[in-house]
Amino acid sequence: MVIESLVPSAPARPGARAVRIGDAVFGTDRVPVIAGPCAVEPGYVDHAMVTAEAGAAVLRGCVFKPRTSPHTFQGLGENGLMLLDEARGRTGAPVIAEPLEPSHVAALAGHADALLIGARSMHNTPLLRAAGRSGLPVVVKRGMSATYDEWVAAADYVLAEGNEAVMLCERGIRTFETATRNTLDLSAIVVLRERTGLPVIVDPSHAAGRAAWVPALAIAAVAAGADGLLIESHPHPERSMCDAAQAVTPLQLREIVRAVARLGALVRPTDPADLEDARNQLDAVDSALACLLDRRARLVAAAARVKQRDGLPERDRRREHEVVARVQREAPALGDPGAARVMRTVIDACLAALDGAGDTEGTLAAASAT
Ligand code: PEP
Ligand code: MN
Repeated sequence: MVIESLVPSAPARPGARAVRIGDAVFGTDRVPVIAGPCAVEPGYVDHAMVTAEAGAAVLRGCVFKPRTSPHTFQGLGENGLMLLDEARGRTGAPVIAEPLEPSHVAALAGHADALLIGARSMHNTPLLRAAGRSGLPVVVKRGMSATYDEWVAAADYVLAEGNEAVMLCERGIRTFETATRNTLDLSAIVVLRERTGLPVIVDPSHAAGRAAWVPALAIAAVAAGADGLLIESHPHPERSMCDAAQAVTPLQLREIVRAVARLGALVRPTDPADLEDARNQLDAVDSALACLLDRRARLVAAAARVKQRDGLPERDRRREHEVVARVQREAPALGDPGAARVMRTVIDACLAALDGAGDTEGTLAAASAT
């Protein structure tokens, strides 16, 4: 069975809705990444530029910060609003910001493109109502001990104000485990995408609490069907004024964005809406193909070294024939002998690369374009 048939794709869900923040659309074939520093801090505009360049579709722009201790940095507050304006202007990317109280919703109007209801605020019903009335898209994070029903009820407060642009965000829950900051509940993605029509996104940063663990959790979330990611990143994580341990670097963020696009091409197939959509999906598929071809060439080289060591012949025609026949069976859309022809070219190209003799780049490009 192919992977794509194991994960329900977003538009295939009955009643599923897509939510748009600026040009980023959540709940379709693509998996946009929201990223940026935990808090807006001095230097934010430069951070935002680097974050957008790394592939973030939406910028975190939290000027008001809910902190566990009142003695830690509480955010720049309204003084940070002009940094949001500048970041939006310079990058062209939309910004999501977190209100902590109803008056913040009005303060953020005109400066933010979407609102984030933090885990600590999920039970703040006046805030949920005010966010609903704002007309902006609202991401409702899961309270750290909230059940699915309680979380969905919180989202209902926003929907009840006539605001349909609502997303749920799993960010890890409190369990007995202390190694991670929270325990990422991957089941939430599967269950709530089935039970609600709302896009479900995942914040692996607050779940992991440690940057090195963020990429794996991000990929796991997308493999399970997440409609988007919310990731904390910082050009110099060690200097981050808030949640430094979990901030990934722009380089790591770029790698996550790329990996997610490739994986998304596998697990979220949809009929393209138009030519641009088709081309975007093709780009993701081609990137996944390139990655796999590169990996294949390296494996062939490793196998060749073993064959040479053991005195085995370089080519095993019988196995090649089996490989070609299997690929032909597994890719029927290319017709007969479409996939078989591509696979033969791929095998030849991988072997040619061993000698450094072949026009590897040209051959592989021709193969993936066939
Ligand atoms: C945040 O995203 O900035 C945050 C504080 O996370 P959470 O509300 O999930 O703790
Ligand atoms: Mn944070």
